[in-house]
Amino acid sequence: MADQVLAFDNPSPTSFPLADAGQGVVVARAASLESALPGTTAVFSTRLGGVSRSPWDQMNVGYQTGDSPVDVTENRRRLFRALDLDVEHLVTAGQVHGDAVVVATASGHQPDTDGLVTLSRSLILAVFCADCVPIWLLDPKTPAAAVVHAGWRGTLAGVAGRAVEVMRRKLGCRPGDLLAAIGPSIGPCCYEVGPEVSEPARARLGPSVLAVPLPGGKARLDLWEANRQSLIRAGLDPLRVDVSGLCTFCRGELFHSHRRETVRSPASPRAGRMVALVKLPERRP
Ligand SMILES: [Zn+2]
Repeated sequence: MADQVLAFDNPSPTSFPLADAGQGVVVARAASLESALPGTTAVFSTRLGGVSRSPWDQMNVGYQTGDSPVDVTENRRRLFRALDLDVEHLVTAGQVHGDAVVVATASGHQPDTDGLVTLSRSLILAVFCADCVPIWLLDPKTPAAAVVHAGWRGTLAGVAGRAVEVMRRKLGCRPGDLLAAIGPSIGPCCYEVGPEVSEPARARLGPSVLAVPLPGGKARLDLWEANRQSLIRAGLDPLRVDVSGLCTFCRGELFHSHRRETVRSPASPRAGRMVALVKLPERRP
């Protein structure tokens, strides 16, 4: 990778380096996946390198955010150009906070799903996030790739493990061969939830996902650990599951955060979006 790795404060500089992909477009790279199968792209955009104005500045890739669609289109163009990807091959998901996972065989939109998997060497799978957890999966042998969007509902529903199950059942992957990366998202440092979330989380996943119990049934929910456990239960080797440790709420210089915008401007929160992308390498000629 010819990227220049940047000297941001980063808890996982090896597994999730922050790098300038070109023209100031900074991305977090899921490095273990990219090095396991050279030519693979597995990245998360940041807010750096785009043209949007405050409060979506600079790189906002989400249209449903109140931002200028012209600026969002230009941001996506810059991101895809920096990564040398063709936006015509994009596959997006409806992101309905469920546990459905779909095998993508053509570009376009898959409405009722939070997970996309593919064997295609040309498709680019995408989920958009601004606090929710992006998860990448790669089977370097088959090869096959997946990307998953997991908010608290999807996390409790086990959508990450469901993606592993779909890769196993429909694509013939062996879970022990898979690598996973859990990307920047709201961390246990900041994700305070009420009893309507903490109680089902405790019942479904156990006390280990409640990082800090608080009075009144509140708690800080650890979505990273909950998704890591979901992947391990589905058969992944714990040593093959990377967690970025970058919190989107804490790290306003790097990431959009829906929760942070809601605190700042409760009446009309206007958070931008990042995108998690995965693409398998082109077949060698
Ligand atoms: Zn935080």
